[in-house]
Amino acid sequence: MRIILLGPPGAGKGTQAANIVEKYAIPHISTGDIFRKNIKEGTELGKKAKEYMDQGLLVPDELTCGLVADRISQDDCKNGFMLDGFPRNIAQAEQLDKYLSEAGTKLDKIVNIEVDKSILVGRAVGRRICKSCGATFHVEFNPTKVEGICDKCGAELHQRADDNEETVSKRIQVYLDETKPLVGYYNKQGIVADINGDQAIEKVFADIVDALGE
Ligand code: ADP
Ligand code: ADP
Ligand code: ZN
Repeated sequence: MRIILLGPPGAGKGTQAANIVEKYAIPHISTGDIFRKNIKEGTELGKKAKEYMDQGLLVPDELTCGLVADRISQDDCKNGFMLDGFPRNIAQAEQLDKYLSEAGTKLDKIVNIEVDKSILVGRAVGRRICKSCGATFHVEFNPTKVEGICDKCGAELHQRADDNEETVSKRIQVYLDETKPLVGYYNKQGIVADINGDQAIEKVFADIVDALGE
């Protein structure tokens, strides 16, 4: 199964991704995670990506499309994958379609998680992520048992550098301008499943499973 997770910052893509990859046994490919790993390791790619990420802007396509093509050409993606945070604009979607058709395959489903703009900022600003295993929590909506400590592995939590009110607002605007048009793009292919993301985490996941099939 080849899936794309679409939705504004804070919609719950990463949270649902963890459930989806477990159920469907496909790799989770998050371009945001790949960039953050590069920043942490101090690579050239990381240095360039950080300039854009700190401002809430999209990293240029030249730095993004090639790395996704490389990743999905690896062996573990043969039977499917889930892209989270890619594509982010029409040009990226077109490049992905071209790559997949050359490889003789295509996308199965776009999981489009919809959440009203008014609640997105609070979601992203309260987000906390495990430094070690990457699990995502929320100070209010999905709190850990012990404050600041990951429920899954016991490591410390941290806050993403770009999860402040100003950058989040910018990212939401960038989503509306550049990424949301992808819903229309994929609707033409008839593969979009709209999911109400303003429900309990478990209910959102149940709706996703309904859309993808058991
Ligand atoms: P995205 O990857 O789309 O930016 P995340 O999955 O990281 O979103 O979720 C953003 C924040 O909102 C996290 O702190 C997460 O714990 C919380 N969250 C995710 N889904 C829900 C939900 N259905 N209801 C309330 N909070 C949620
Ligand atoms: P969120 O789902 O909360 O918006 P992500 O982790 O997906 O966060 O993305 C964080 C940042 O990484 C984005 O604001 C952008 O700067 C960069 N980024 C991630 N994926 C892409 C992409 N496909 N194209 C361009 N920039 C990207
Ligand atoms: Zn952890």
